[in-house]
Amino acid sequence: MNILILGSGGREHTFAYQMAKSKLCNQLYVAPGNAGTAKIATSIALNVNDFEAIKATVNEKEIQMVVVGPEDPLVNGIYDFFTEEETLKNVMLIGPSKRGALLEGSKERAKEFMAMHNVPTAAYQSFTKESLEAGKKFLETLKAPYVLKADGLAGGKGVLILEDLEEAKAELEQMLIGKFGNASHTVVIEEFLDGIELSVFVLTDGKDYKILPTAKDYKRIGEGDTGLNTGGMGAISPVPFADEALMQKIEDRIVKPTVNGLQKEEIDYKGFIFIGLIKVGDDPYVIEYNVRMGDPETEVVLPRIKTDLVELLQKVGQQELATANLEIDERAATTVMCVSGGYPEAYEKGKEIKGLENIDDAIVFHAGTKEENGKVVTNGGRVMAVTSFGKDYQEALKKSYQNVEKLHFDKMYYRKDLGKDLKPVS
Ligand code: ATP
Repeated sequence: MNILILGSGGREHTFAYQMAKSKLCNQLYVAPGNAGTAKIATSIALNVNDFEAIKATVNEKEIQMVVVGPEDPLVNGIYDFFTEEETLKNVMLIGPSKRGALLEGSKERAKEFMAMHNVPTAAYQSFTKESLEAGKKFLETLKAPYVLKADGLAGGKGVLILEDLEEAKAELEQMLIGKFGNASHTVVIEEFLDGIELSVFVLTDGKDYKILPTAKDYKRIGEGDTGLNTGGMGAISPVPFADEALMQKIEDRIVKPTVNGLQKEEIDYKGFIFIGLIKVGDDPYVIEYNVRMGDPETEVVLPRIKTDLVELLQKVGQQELATANLEIDERAATTVMCVSGGYPEAYEKGKEIKGLENIDDAIVFHAGTKEENGKVVTNGGRVMAVTSFGKDYQEALKKSYQNVEKLHFDKMYYRKDLGKDLKPVS
Protein backbone atom coordinates (compact mmCIF):
# COMPACT_ATOMS: atom_id res chain seq x y z
CA MET A 1 0.00 0.00 0.00
CA ASN A 2 1.02 3.63 -0.38
CA ILE A 3 1.77 5.30 2.94
CA LEU A 4 2.15 8.92 4.04
CA ILE A 5 3.91 9.87 7.27
CA LEU A 6 3.29 13.40 8.56
CA GLY A 7 6.15 15.18 10.32
CA SER A 8 9.84 15.94 9.95
CA GLY A 9 11.71 14.76 13.03
CA GLY A 10 13.67 11.78 14.28
CA ARG A 11 10.35 10.16 15.21
CA GLU A 12 9.13 10.31 11.63
CA HIS A 13 12.47 9.08 10.25
CA THR A 14 12.16 6.08 12.57
CA PHE A 15 8.62 5.36 11.38
CA ALA A 16 9.82 5.63 7.77
CA TYR A 17 12.80 3.34 8.49
CA GLN A 18 10.58 0.64 10.00
CA MET A 19 7.80 0.94 7.44
CA ALA A 20 10.09 0.99 4.40
CA LYS A 21 11.20 -2.54 5.42
CA SER A 22 7.69 -3.94 5.14
CA LYS A 23 6.66 -6.07 2.21
CA LEU A 24 3.26 -4.38 2.46
CA CYS A 25 4.76 -0.95 1.78
CA ASN A 26 4.64 0.14 -1.83
CA GLN A 27 5.24 3.91 -2.13
CA LEU A 28 6.36 5.70 1.02
CA TYR A 29 5.99 9.47 1.42
CA VAL A 30 7.02 11.74 4.29
CA ALA A 31 5.68 15.28 4.55
CA PRO A 32 7.61 17.47 4.96
CA GLY A 33 10.43 15.02 5.92
CA ASN A 34 14.16 15.68 6.27
CA ALA A 35 17.47 14.62 4.67
CA GLY A 36 17.24 11.21 6.37
CA THR A 37 13.71 10.37 5.31
CA ALA A 38 14.54 11.56 1.77
CA LYS A 39 16.96 8.62 1.44
CA ILE A 40 14.22 6.02 1.98
CA ALA A 41 11.00 7.82 1.04
CA THR A 42 9.73 10.64 -1.15
CA SER A 43 9.50 14.01 0.59
CA ILE A 44 6.45 16.17 0.02
CA ALA A 45 6.60 19.83 1.00
CA LEU A 46 3.41 20.49 2.91
CA ASN A 47 2.30 21.85 6.24
CA VAL A 48 1.02 19.09 8.56
CA ASN A 49 -1.86 21.34 9.64
CA ASP A 50 -3.02 22.10 6.09
CA PHE A 51 -5.68 19.41 5.80
CA GLU A 52 -6.79 20.44 2.32
CA ALA A 53 -3.24 20.07 1.01
CA ILE A 54 -2.97 16.68 2.73
CA LYS A 55 -6.26 15.61 1.14
CA ALA A 56 -4.99 16.61 -2.31
CA THR A 57 -1.78 14.61 -1.79
CA VAL A 58 -3.60 11.55 -0.46
CA ASN A 59 -5.92 11.54 -3.46
CA GLU A 60 -3.20 12.23 -6.01
CA LYS A 61 -0.76 9.62 -4.70
CA GLU A 62 -3.48 7.07 -3.92
CA ILE A 63 -2.40 6.80 -0.31
CA GLN A 64 -4.10 4.16 1.81
CA MET A 65 -2.54 4.83 5.20
CA VAL A 66 -1.56 8.08 6.94
CA VAL A 67 0.56 8.02 10.09
CA VAL A 68 0.46 11.27 12.06
CA GLY A 69 3.70 12.02 13.92
CA PRO A 70 3.13 15.25 15.89
CA GLU A 71 0.20 16.18 18.14
CA ASP A 72 -0.91 19.43 16.49
CA PRO A 73 -2.82 17.97 13.52
CA LEU A 74 -4.47 15.46 15.86
CA VAL A 75 -5.60 18.11 18.31
CA ASN A 76 -6.78 20.15 15.30
CA GLY A 77 -9.00 17.24 14.22
CA ILE A 78 -7.26 15.55 11.28
CA TYR A 79 -8.93 12.21 12.13
CA ASP A 80 -12.39 13.76 12.02
CA PHE A 81 -11.51 15.56 8.76
CA PHE A 82 -10.63 12.19 7.21
CA THR A 83 -13.84 10.51 8.39
CA GLU A 84 -15.99 13.38 7.11
CA GLU A 85 -14.44 13.76 3.65
CA GLU A 86 -15.98 11.49 1.03
CA THR A 87 -12.68 10.80 -0.80
CA LEU A 88 -10.78 10.03 2.42
CA LYS A 89 -13.27 7.73 4.15
CA ASN A 90 -11.43 4.56 3.21
CA VAL A 91 -7.98 5.85 4.10
CA MET A 92 -6.61 4.49 7.38
CA LEU A 93 -5.49 7.35 9.56
CA ILE A 94 -3.35 6.28 12.50
CA GLY A 95 -4.20 8.64 15.34
CA PRO A 96 -7.12 9.51 17.61
CA SER A 97 -10.20 11.55 16.86
CA LYS A 98 -10.33 15.15 18.06
CA ARG A 99 -12.12 14.03 21.25
CA GLY A 100 -9.37 11.48 21.86
CA ALA A 101 -6.65 14.03 21.17
CA LEU A 102 -8.07 16.23 23.93
CA LEU A 103 -6.36 13.90 26.38
CA GLU A 104 -3.20 15.69 25.33
CA GLY A 105 -4.74 18.97 24.17
CA SER A 106 -6.33 19.74 27.54
CA LYS A 107 -4.73 18.81 30.85
CA GLU A 108 -8.01 19.54 32.65
CA ARG A 109 -9.82 17.09 30.37
CA ALA A 110 -7.08 14.48 30.92
CA LYS A 111 -7.45 14.83 34.70
CA GLU A 112 -11.24 14.55 34.44
CA PHE A 113 -10.88 11.43 32.29
CA MET A 114 -8.50 9.87 34.83
CA ALA A 115 -10.81 10.73 37.72
CA MET A 116 -13.80 9.31 35.86
CA HIS A 117 -12.09 6.01 35.04
CA ASN A 118 -10.15 5.57 38.28
CA VAL A 119 -6.71 5.97 36.75
CA PRO A 120 -4.21 6.85 39.53
CA THR A 121 -2.86 10.38 39.20
CA ALA A 122 -1.92 13.34 41.42
CA ALA A 123 -4.79 15.07 43.26
CA TYR A 124 -5.72 18.31 41.48
CA GLN A 125 -8.07 21.22 41.01
CA SER A 126 -8.37 23.56 38.06
CA PHE A 127 -8.89 27.31 38.01
CA THR A 128 -9.68 30.20 35.66
CA LYS A 129 -9.24 33.99 36.00
CA GLU A 130 -12.61 34.13 37.76
CA SER A 131 -11.46 31.65 40.41
CA LEU A 132 -7.97 33.09 40.97
CA GLU A 133 -8.54 33.70 44.69
CA ALA A 134 -9.79 30.13 45.17
CA GLY A 135 -6.67 28.95 43.33
CA LYS A 136 -4.41 30.86 45.71
CA LYS A 137 -6.28 29.35 48.67
CA PHE A 138 -5.90 25.88 47.17
CA LEU A 139 -2.14 26.44 46.87
CA GLU A 140 -2.07 27.25 50.61
CA THR A 141 -3.47 23.80 51.37
CA LEU A 142 -0.63 22.07 49.47
CA LYS A 143 2.97 21.43 50.44
CA ALA A 144 5.89 22.66 48.29
CA PRO A 145 6.87 22.10 45.55
CA TYR A 146 3.82 23.51 43.76
CA VAL A 147 2.90 22.15 40.32
CA LEU A 148 1.09 24.56 37.95
CA LYS A 149 0.05 23.37 34.50
CA ALA A 150 -1.34 25.38 31.62
CA ASP A 151 -4.39 23.50 30.38
CA GLY A 152 -3.59 23.70 26.66
CA LEU A 153 -0.59 22.93 24.45
CA ALA A 154 2.32 25.20 25.34
CA GLY A 155 5.19 23.59 23.44
CA GLY A 156 6.36 21.62 26.48
CA LYS A 157 6.85 24.84 28.48
CA GLY A 158 3.49 25.07 30.21
CA VAL A 159 4.38 23.25 33.43
CA LEU A 160 5.94 25.17 36.31
CA ILE A 161 7.25 23.54 39.46
CA LEU A 162 7.91 26.10 42.18
CA GLU A 163 9.33 25.87 45.69
CA ASP A 164 7.96 29.12 47.06
CA LEU A 165 4.25 29.63 47.85
CA GLU A 166 4.22 33.37 47.08
CA GLU A 167 5.98 32.77 43.76
CA ALA A 168 3.47 30.04 42.95
CA LYS A 169 0.57 32.42 43.64
CA ALA A 170 2.14 35.11 41.45
CA GLU A 171 2.79 32.64 38.63
CA LEU A 172 -0.78 31.36 38.86
CA GLU A 173 -2.02 34.90 38.31
CA GLN A 174 0.38 35.46 35.40
CA MET A 175 -0.70 32.22 33.76
CA LEU A 176 -4.40 32.98 34.15
CA ILE A 177 -4.02 36.38 32.58
CA GLY A 178 -2.33 34.83 29.57
CA LYS A 179 1.35 34.05 30.17
CA PHE A 180 0.95 31.15 27.72
CA GLY A 181 -1.85 32.81 25.73
CA ASN A 182 -5.09 30.83 25.52
CA ALA A 183 -3.24 27.71 26.69
CA SER A 184 -3.14 29.00 30.28
CA HIS A 185 -6.62 30.51 30.59
CA THR A 186 -7.30 27.42 32.66
CA VAL A 187 -4.59 26.18 35.03
CA VAL A 188 -4.44 22.78 36.70
CA ILE A 189 -2.80 22.84 40.12
CA GLU A 190 -1.74 19.43 41.30
CA GLU A 191 -0.04 17.63 44.12
CA PHE A 192 3.69 17.08 43.60
CA LEU A 193 4.62 13.42 43.15
CA ASP A 194 8.09 12.46 44.28
CA GLY A 195 9.44 9.52 42.33
CA ILE A 196 11.12 8.33 39.13
CA GLU A 197 9.67 8.83 35.69
CA LEU A 198 9.15 6.41 32.85
CA SER A 199 7.07 6.27 29.70
CA VAL A 200 4.81 3.48 28.56
CA PHE A 201 3.58 3.28 24.98
CA VAL A 202 0.33 1.63 24.02
CA LEU A 203 -1.04 0.89 20.58
CA THR A 204 -4.83 0.66 20.45
CA ASP A 205 -7.51 0.18 17.83
CA GLY A 206 -10.11 1.50 20.25
CA LYS A 207 -11.11 -2.01 21.37
CA ASP A 208 -7.92 -3.88 22.15
CA TYR A 209 -4.40 -2.80 22.93
CA LYS A 210 -0.76 -3.88 22.82
CA ILE A 211 1.81 -2.56 25.24
CA LEU A 212 4.95 -1.54 23.38
CA PRO A 213 8.44 -1.35 24.92
CA THR A 214 8.95 1.14 27.77
CA ALA A 215 11.41 4.03 27.52
CA LYS A 216 13.01 6.68 29.63
CA ASP A 217 14.07 9.98 28.11
CA TYR A 218 16.49 12.69 29.18
CA LYS A 219 14.82 16.09 28.99
CA ARG A 220 17.33 18.63 30.27
CA ILE A 221 20.11 20.12 28.15
CA GLY A 222 22.82 19.76 30.80
CA GLU A 223 24.55 16.75 32.32
CA GLY A 224 23.19 15.54 35.64
CA ASP A 225 19.76 16.59 34.29
CA THR A 226 20.40 20.30 34.75
CA GLY A 227 19.60 23.40 32.70
CA LEU A 228 16.74 24.11 30.36
CA ASN A 229 14.16 21.61 29.17
CA THR A 230 14.57 20.35 25.61
CA GLY A 231 12.55 18.18 23.26
CA GLY A 232 14.70 15.29 24.55
CA MET A 233 18.45 14.58 24.59
CA GLY A 234 18.33 10.81 24.40
CA ALA A 235 16.42 7.73 25.48
CA ILE A 236 16.83 4.20 26.75
CA SER A 237 14.57 1.16 26.23
CA PRO A 238 13.59 -0.89 28.14
CA VAL A 239 13.50 1.04 31.40
CA PRO A 240 15.65 -1.08 33.74
CA PHE A 241 13.44 -0.55 36.79
CA ALA A 242 10.20 -1.39 34.94
CA ASP A 243 10.10 -4.97 36.22
CA GLU A 244 7.27 -7.44 35.74
CA ALA A 245 5.51 -6.45 38.95
CA LEU A 246 5.46 -2.75 38.03
CA MET A 247 4.36 -3.49 34.45
CA GLN A 248 1.50 -5.62 35.74
CA LYS A 249 0.31 -2.74 37.94
CA ILE A 250 0.63 -0.35 34.99
CA GLU A 251 -1.43 -2.64 32.79
CA ASP A 252 -4.14 -3.33 35.39
CA ARG A 253 -4.44 0.10 36.97
CA ILE A 254 -3.65 2.37 34.03
CA VAL A 255 -3.68 0.81 30.55
CA LYS A 256 -6.89 -1.24 30.90
CA PRO A 257 -8.96 1.51 32.53
CA THR A 258 -7.68 4.00 29.96
CA VAL A 259 -8.65 1.87 26.95
CA ASN A 260 -11.95 0.89 28.61
CA GLY A 261 -12.59 4.57 29.35
CA LEU A 262 -12.15 5.44 25.68
CA GLN A 263 -14.66 2.75 24.78
CA LYS A 264 -17.17 3.76 27.44
CA GLU A 265 -17.03 7.34 26.22
CA GLU A 266 -17.30 6.14 22.60
CA ILE A 267 -14.13 7.94 21.60
CA ASP A 268 -12.65 6.84 18.25
CA TYR A 269 -9.01 6.08 18.93
CA LYS A 270 -6.83 4.17 16.50
CA GLY A 271 -3.29 5.03 17.37
CA PHE A 272 -0.64 5.43 20.01
CA ILE A 273 -1.10 6.45 23.63
CA PHE A 274 2.11 7.65 25.26
CA ILE A 275 1.63 7.56 29.01
CA GLY A 276 4.02 9.62 31.13
CA LEU A 277 4.27 7.98 34.54
CA ILE A 278 5.89 8.53 37.91
CA LYS A 279 6.72 5.57 40.11
CA VAL A 280 6.18 6.62 43.71
CA GLY A 281 7.40 3.88 46.02
CA ASP A 282 6.18 0.80 44.19
CA ASP A 283 3.14 2.40 42.59
CA PRO A 284 2.65 4.03 39.18
CA TYR A 285 0.80 7.34 38.71
CA VAL A 286 -0.03 9.06 35.45
CA ILE A 287 1.49 12.50 34.90
CA GLU A 288 0.26 12.98 31.38
CA TYR A 289 -1.21 11.39 28.31
CA ASN A 290 0.19 12.14 24.89
CA VAL A 291 -1.77 10.99 21.89
CA ARG A 292 1.18 10.12 19.66
CA MET A 293 4.63 8.64 20.00
CA GLY A 294 7.38 10.61 21.76
CA ASP A 295 10.57 11.93 20.27
CA PRO A 296 13.28 10.64 20.96
CA GLU A 297 11.52 7.65 22.61
CA THR A 298 10.33 6.46 19.19
CA GLU A 299 13.97 6.09 18.15
CA VAL A 300 14.41 3.32 20.76
CA VAL A 301 10.88 1.88 20.95
CA LEU A 302 10.12 1.19 17.27
CA PRO A 303 13.48 -0.41 16.40
CA ARG A 304 12.78 -3.00 19.14
CA ILE A 305 9.51 -4.04 17.49
CA LYS A 306 10.23 -7.05 15.29
CA THR A 307 6.67 -7.40 14.00
CA ASP A 308 6.08 -5.79 10.62
CA LEU A 309 5.00 -2.25 11.56
CA VAL A 310 2.78 -1.75 8.51
CA GLU A 311 0.96 -5.00 9.25
CA LEU A 312 0.53 -3.94 12.89
CA LEU A 313 -0.84 -0.51 11.96
CA GLN A 314 -3.10 -2.03 9.33
CA LYS A 315 -4.63 -4.16 12.09
CA VAL A 316 -5.13 -0.98 14.11
CA GLY A 317 -6.89 0.67 11.17
CA GLN A 318 -9.11 -2.39 10.66
CA GLN A 319 -9.77 -2.81 14.38
CA GLU A 320 -8.23 -6.27 14.37
CA LEU A 321 -5.38 -5.60 16.75
CA ALA A 322 -6.46 -8.56 18.91
CA THR A 323 -5.21 -10.87 16.14
CA ALA A 324 -1.76 -9.25 15.97
CA ASN A 325 1.29 -10.97 17.32
CA LEU A 326 3.68 -8.44 18.82
CA GLU A 327 7.28 -9.59 18.81
CA ILE A 328 9.84 -7.53 20.71
CA ASP A 329 13.62 -7.61 20.38
CA GLU A 330 15.01 -8.63 23.77
CA ARG A 331 18.05 -6.40 23.36
CA ALA A 332 18.23 -2.92 24.82
CA ALA A 333 18.24 0.12 22.54
CA THR A 334 19.61 3.56 23.30
CA THR A 335 19.68 6.80 21.40
CA VAL A 336 21.87 9.87 21.86
CA MET A 337 20.64 13.17 20.43
CA CYS A 338 23.18 15.48 18.77
CA VAL A 339 22.05 19.10 18.97
CA SER A 340 23.12 22.48 17.63
CA GLY A 341 25.28 24.57 20.01
CA GLY A 342 23.01 27.03 21.85
CA TYR A 343 19.88 24.84 21.69
CA PRO A 344 17.26 25.06 23.26
CA GLU A 345 17.91 28.79 22.97
CA ALA A 346 19.23 30.50 19.82
CA TYR A 347 21.37 28.35 17.51
CA GLU A 348 22.66 28.46 13.96
CA LYS A 349 21.56 26.31 11.05
CA GLY A 350 23.17 25.23 7.79
CA LYS A 351 26.27 23.53 9.26
CA GLU A 352 27.58 20.64 7.19
CA ILE A 353 27.29 17.25 8.90
CA LYS A 354 30.32 15.05 8.36
CA GLY A 355 31.10 11.44 9.20
CA LEU A 356 27.74 9.85 8.35
CA GLU A 357 29.52 7.34 6.09
CA ASN A 358 31.62 6.06 9.03
CA ILE A 359 28.69 4.87 11.13
CA ASP A 360 29.01 1.25 12.15
CA ASP A 361 26.51 -0.84 14.15
CA ALA A 362 24.19 2.13 14.74
CA ILE A 363 21.35 3.90 12.97
CA VAL A 364 21.37 7.66 12.56
CA PHE A 365 17.83 9.00 12.66
CA HIS A 366 17.74 12.49 11.22
CA ALA A 367 15.76 15.17 13.05
CA GLY A 368 16.69 18.72 12.01
CA THR A 369 18.60 18.10 8.78
CA LYS A 370 18.21 18.95 5.12
CA GLU A 371 20.10 18.39 1.92
CA GLU A 372 21.74 21.42 0.32
CA ASN A 373 23.93 21.23 -2.79
CA GLY A 374 24.51 17.53 -2.27
CA LYS A 375 25.54 17.98 1.36
CA VAL A 376 23.60 17.16 4.53
CA VAL A 377 23.37 20.26 6.72
CA THR A 378 21.80 21.10 10.08
CA ASN A 379 18.31 22.54 9.96
CA GLY A 380 17.10 22.57 13.56
CA GLY A 381 18.04 22.42 17.24
CA ARG A 382 17.87 18.68 17.56
CA VAL A 383 19.83 17.44 14.57
CA MET A 384 20.14 13.63 14.71
CA ALA A 385 19.67 10.73 17.08
CA VAL A 386 22.14 7.85 17.09
CA THR A 387 20.49 4.54 18.02
CA SER A 388 22.31 1.32 18.91
CA PHE A 389 21.43 -2.07 20.36
CA GLY A 390 23.21 -4.05 23.07
CA LYS A 391 22.61 -6.91 25.49
CA ASP A 392 21.88 -4.21 28.09
CA TYR A 393 21.62 -0.43 28.01
CA GLN A 394 25.27 0.01 28.99
CA GLU A 395 26.46 -1.93 25.94
CA ALA A 396 24.00 -0.14 23.67
CA LEU A 397 25.06 3.26 25.00
CA LYS A 398 28.71 2.46 24.45
CA LYS A 399 27.96 1.81 20.77
CA SER A 400 25.77 4.90 20.45
CA TYR A 401 28.57 7.06 21.89
CA GLN A 402 31.28 5.42 19.75
CA ASN A 403 29.26 6.37 16.70
CA VAL A 404 28.34 9.86 17.90
CA GLU A 405 32.07 10.52 18.13
CA LYS A 406 32.41 9.79 14.41
CA LEU A 407 29.93 12.54 13.57
CA HIS A 408 30.74 16.20 13.38
CA PHE A 409 29.26 19.59 12.67
CA ASP A 410 30.27 23.02 13.90
CA LYS A 411 29.21 23.49 17.57
CA MET A 412 27.69 20.00 17.87
CA TYR A 413 26.71 19.13 21.45
CA TYR A 414 25.39 15.99 23.14
CA ARG A 415 25.00 14.78 26.69
CA LYS A 416 27.68 12.31 27.74
CA ASP A 417 25.94 11.14 30.92
CA LEU A 418 22.95 9.15 29.68
CA GLY A 419 22.26 6.11 31.83
CA LYS A 420 24.49 7.32 34.68
CA ASP A 421 21.42 7.84 36.86
CA LEU A 422 20.38 4.19 36.53
CA LYS A 423 21.49 1.13 38.45
CA PRO A 424 23.63 -1.05 36.17
CA VAL A 425 21.70 -4.01 34.75
CA SER A 426 24.59 -6.44 34.93
P1 ATP B 1 6.12 17.32 28.02
O1 ATP B 1 5.13 17.14 26.93
O2 ATP B 1 7.30 18.16 27.66
O3 ATP B 1 6.48 16.05 28.73
P2 ATP B 1 4.08 18.79 29.35
O4 ATP B 1 4.18 20.24 29.18
O5 ATP B 1 3.03 18.09 28.57
O6 ATP B 1 5.46 18.16 29.16
P3 ATP B 1 3.85 17.28 31.85
O7 ATP B 1 4.45 16.08 31.23
O8 ATP B 1 2.51 17.17 32.47
O9 ATP B 1 3.84 18.53 30.90
O10 ATP B 1 4.90 17.78 32.94
C1 ATP B 1 6.22 18.10 32.59
C2 ATP B 1 7.17 17.54 33.62
O11 ATP B 1 6.88 18.11 34.91
C3 ATP B 1 7.04 16.04 33.83
O12 ATP B 1 7.83 15.32 32.92
C4 ATP B 1 7.50 15.88 35.26
O13 ATP B 1 8.92 15.84 35.32
C5 ATP B 1 7.04 17.13 35.93
N1 ATP B 1 5.74 16.93 36.60
C6 ATP B 1 4.53 17.11 36.07
N2 ATP B 1 3.56 16.85 36.96
C7 ATP B 1 4.18 16.51 38.11
C8 ATP B 1 3.74 16.12 39.42
N3 ATP B 1 2.44 16.08 39.73
N4 ATP B 1 4.66 15.83 40.34
C9 ATP B 1 5.98 15.90 40.05
N5 ATP B 1 6.46 16.25 38.85
C10 ATP B 1 5.57 16.56 37.89
